[in-house]
Amino acid sequence: MALDHNITALVTGASSGIGEATARALRLQGVKVYAAARRIDRLEKLASETGCIPIHLDVRDRQAVKEFGEKYPIDILINNAGLGRALGSMWDAEIEDIEMTVDTNVTSAILMIKSVLPGMIKRGKGHIVNMSSVTAIYPLPAALYGATKSAIHKLSRDLRMELQGTGIRVTEMSPGRVTSEFYNVAIDDEHQLKKAVETQCDDLTAEDIADAIIYCVSAPWRVNVSQMEILPTEQT
Ligand code: NDP
Repeated sequence: MALDHNITALVTGASSGIGEATARALRLQGVKVYAAARRIDRLEKLASETGCIPIHLDVRDRQAVKEFGEKYPIDILINNAGLGRALGSMWDAEIEDIEMTVDTNVTSAILMIKSVLPGMIKRGKGHIVNMSSVTAIYPLPAALYGATKSAIHKLSRDLRMELQGTGIRVTEMSPGRVTSEFYNVAIDDEHQLKKAVETQCDDLTAEDIADAIIYCVSAPWRVNVSQMEILPTEQT
């Protein structure tokens, strides 16, 4: 779709990393961007630099998510908010961390779609970009996180089928290792994931993923990039 000021996007998890870079990239294309997250100070700084609209939105807040879609018509949803709590060993993780991970990465992502979808269907056009991961498919010693991204993988594929005939595109974005605050979680130094992450490799930048998202959302309408996998060149 031609990206311009007539297009409205919502980027969840826009206060850092991939979400922030994507909000910036969409603004550079002239798109009206709602940048949503919990850290409103970060969003306000982003807004002052780019002109996006900061929205305090906890994606786990069911009522706030429901009201957002009722209030704002959205053409492009960048369903990006996510976390890697209990990223290490699932078997000794706290129940709260397990629930938070599944709730944020899966249930909240589904409810975000459910919130904006009626408006997209009504207008006969829309694009949902779900932030998945290569861990959705490839083995990594991060079972819980991988399972949540597998859910997003299947959700994206099947949602595209459910939405046939509505004019709505669905993209699953599957990055490999991206430098961001994502890895600022407690993982045992001896854990094999820590060692894997610390293996020398020129990781992707958040901007690399933002560029890929711009490619997907600006493609001619007949083109639905249904899945895009992006790995650092040297990532095994
Ligand atoms: P960051 O930690 O930098 O960004 C995560 C974002 O999610 C933050 O903006 C955070 O905002 C937001 N977020 C988390 N919980 C909530 C919540 N309850 N409500 C609203 N926003 C929330 O990491 P990345 O940019 O790397 O991660 C973005 C996405 O990319 C995630 O879905 C992640 O799983 C995925 N991904 C990351 C990879 C990587 O290697 N980094 C690889 C593959 C996929 P705030 O705390 O302000 O609310």
